[in-house]
Amino acid sequence: MSIIFATGNSHKVQEARSVLDIPFKSLKEINFLEDIEETGSTLEANALIKARHIYNLDNEYNFVFSEDTGLEVDALNGAPGVITARYAGTSKSFTNNMDLLLHNLSGFEDRSARFRAVIALILNGNEYLFEGIINGTIAKEKFGDGGFGYDPIFIPEGHTKTFAELGSHVKDQLSHRSKALQKMKNQLDRLNVKI
Ligand code: IMP
Repeated sequence: MSIIFATGNSHKVQEARSVLDIPFKSLKEINFLEDIEETGSTLEANALIKARHIYNLDNEYNFVFSEDTGLEVDALNGAPGVITARYAGTSKSFTNNMDLLLHNLSGFEDRSARFRAVIALILNGNEYLFEGIINGTIAKEKFGDGGFGYDPIFIPEGHTKTFAELGSHVKDQLSHRSKALQKMKNQLDRLNVKI
């Protein structure tokens, strides 16, 4: 069985490898280097677009999963949400995205936010969706240099440091992505899928 994680994001691949004991291949490892356009208006739609695109490429790809994440900030009515990756423009710069978010949040007391990850799994033609959420707050400035994306400004609930300061070991225990991956794993167990 060929298992593909339909992402070009090496950080996501690394995190999934720490959480899942499943021998999957990333898009880079199957030599798929194109950007799949995320044209959906929800995380669910975009996760499905990526998974379906790869699933339909080759009959051998009968187990494909993909993931789409949004950062939802309460004071900004859920923004950046589905445009989290492109918040400050199509260059997808992590620094510009964080700077814009800090700018847009300046003056707000309420800094509560959450990361929401949606995994789409296509297994032998059947589609499944799994959601993982981590609540937290947006820091006043950037702290730490671990992780990726908005990690230097996201403080998970129950902690006083950002994901970037806490490091991968702590992040992998509580992140949106690891929760969604764990749900996928539970579903594979329920389906009795032998890998
Ligand atoms: P996508 O899921 O690839 O569309 O990415 C959405 C964007 O969310 C990424 O470009 C990152 O900026 C951000 N993001 C996704 N997951 C994380 C995370 O675990 N930590 C910080 N930022 C993240």
